[in-house]
Formats: sequence, C-alpha cells, structure tokens
Amino acid sequence: MMNLYGDRGNVISIKKRCEWRGIEVEVVDVGLGEPIRPTGCDVFLFGGGQDREQTLLVDDLSGAKGRELKAIAEDGGVILGVCGGYQLMGHYYETPEGEKLPGVGIFDMHTRPRRPDEPRLIGNVLARVRPLEGEADATPREIVGFENHGGRTELGGGTEPLADVISGYGNNGRDGTEGARRLNSYGTYLHGSLLPKNPWLTDQLILNALRRTDDSFELEPLDDAAEKAAFASVAGRVRAGKG
Ligand code: GLN
Repeated sequence: MMNLYGDRGNVISIKKRCEWRGIEVEVVDVGLGEPIRPTGCDVFLFGGGQDREQTLLVDDLSGAKGRELKAIAEDGGVILGVCGGYQLMGHYYETPEGEKLPGVGIFDMHTRPRRPDEPRLIGNVLARVRPLEGEADATPREIVGFENHGGRTELGGGTEPLADVISGYGNNGRDGTEGARRLNSYGTYLHGSLLPKNPWLTDQLILNALRRTDDSFELEPLDDAAEKAAFASVAGRVRAGKG
C-alpha cells in the first residue's frame, strides 16, 4: 500500500545487492492487520503514500504494530522510512484538513501541513549525508532522489537529520535538513526510488543489519558502474540547476 513512486524499488535494490553476493533474501509483505515482530526480519522498509493511504493505515499503526516497530527501532533494528512512511515515524502527520495522524514516535519530530500560500515541495534533491558515528573523517557521501510532499517536517532539538540539503527542499524547505536518523532507523523524503541510484546507502543498510549478528561482517564490492552513472546523471542535472 505504501509504494508511492515505486518505493518498492528499495526492496528490489536490497534484495539484488544481497543476492549478487550470495546472500539469500526473503521478502515479507506486512499488510494492514498483519503483525511485524513474528516475521523476524532484519530490514524494515516503509514506503511513501498520499494522505489517503496514510489515513487508512494509522489505526493499524496505533496499536501493537506501532509499538512493535518502535521496539525494533529502539533495539537498533534497521528501518528505512520514505516520505509518508517517514512522516509516520514521528509523533504525528497533520493533514491539510487539520487531522493529526498519530505516528510511531521513533523520531522526535512532527509534520505540519503546508499553508494555502505554500507550494508542495517537489523536485530532484541532492543532499550530503552526515557522517555515521565513528566515521567523522570519512568522505562525505551524497544521495539523490525525488521529493513530492506538502508536509513540512520539524525535527525536535535532539533529532539528527539524515543529511543536509545541497539542492532541493528536504524536511521543510527552510532549515536545510533532509530526513532524520536515530540508531539504525533512517527517514527521508527521497523517492526515486531512493536506493537503486545510491548503492552505498543500500550497502550501508545491509551492513547495519548483518553486523547486528556479526560485527566483523564485510560486503564484497560490486560493479556499481550503472548505479554510479545513474547517480551522476541526476546529481549533474541538479548541480547545473536543471532540477
Ligand atoms: N501525504 C504526504 C505529504 O504530502 C506524503 C506524500 C508522499 O509520500 N510523497 O506530505
């Protein structure tokens, strides 16, 4: 249900980048009314959705399921939420009609609707991901994607953004932040889908999951020529101001 702009491409990207390395993957769809915890999964993906889909799923999220997802996040589980899914990882998403849809509370943040004089935030985004813990001296890594959201996300004081916007709008078009990150939970506004054009991020999610059972785990490098060409194509257009 939460698969706006083909966010299911994130599932395919993780699956293929594992299988290309001989790591078997089972994909489990968790639909309305279906529990999360018993699946015993290692990576959880929560795609984007219009206000309609978000409204449809909040009842499902407001009970045990939301508590399970938050417990997985608190335990260091690997979660990637995109746009509408990301918004529901905060305290609430307020619709343009003024309805506050309760979120799971993984991130200390909330999302307000755009005011009538404010546009939807639409376009390609290039953002620089803040270094992960212990990687302060690492080369800053960038991500590209596409955003289309009316909501403006405000991060709580202690909430770390995922990235800083180089070009585009990000969380709210005002503070230069994009997404949020806490433990191994990542949230972002970037559709695309996000992961196929950002192979290093795909591998980071896979590593974060596999290192929970073996902290020495390493991934064999892959030939990322096609992925890097896709990234460079969008990043080049964005840097040239061609949106
Ligand atoms: N309905 C939300 C908004 O417009 C999220 C949309 C989306 O997932 N692209 O802000």
